[in-house]
Amino acid sequence: MNKEVIDQLIKSLKKNRIEAIYFSSKEKLIDFFIDKLKPNMTVGTGDSLTLEQVGLFDLLRKSNVNFLDKYKRDITKFEKDKLYRDNFSSDLFLSGINAITIEGKIFNLDGNGSRVAPIIYGPKQVFLICGINKIVQNDEEAIFRIRNIAAPIDAKRLNKKTPCVKTGKCIDCKSADKICNYYTIIQGQFDKNRIKVLLVDGEYGF
Ligand code: SF4
Repeated sequence: MNKEVIDQLIKSLKKNRIEAIYFSSKEKLIDFFIDKLKPNMTVGTGDSLTLEQVGLFDLLRKSNVNFLDKYKRDITKFEKDKLYRDNFSSDLFLSGINAITIEGKIFNLDGNGSRVAPIIYGPKQVFLICGINKIVQNDEEAIFRIRNIAAPIDAKRLNKKTPCVKTGKCIDCKSADKICNYYTIIQGQFDKNRIKVLLVDGEYGF
């Protein structure tokens, strides 16, 4: 991905009142968060392979923050449901995304809404971490990417029984296991300091 595309994306997001910061490596991103995390702050996260691959889950687990860790061993359904609700009042919420257009729109899909809902409302500050593999030209490409790359891989990862797990393509199923019940497009915000996009050089997530 060339620098012009990144610059254009950052400009487009700014017009939508969303600041974006570019990091040339995941190590620089981690340095950014080492500075950002303060003792006892509550940090929630969405389900995200990107966060795992860049090392953010590891950082949160060893930091002196109140990490709402949905992956902790032996967590019960009751505890997980509570944690999802606690995400709404977290100081910081971190998530990956599914696609971002050069026109500055952020696309996400979600099965139960526990990731997209707190991105949109609740936590004081939201950082969306995005490898450059998620950058696409326009809305059509974003939806194509979700239906033919992100959702089938995610459904497989989550052991869902959906048609796309077998075919690798979306057939707009009506399955009870459907993981794309909610599509969201973020194309602006009232508080320009709330959601920020952190672009990281490299391919992260799917
Ligand atoms: S709608 Fe169904 S088939 Fe399409 S990506 Fe989602 S889960 Fe897969």
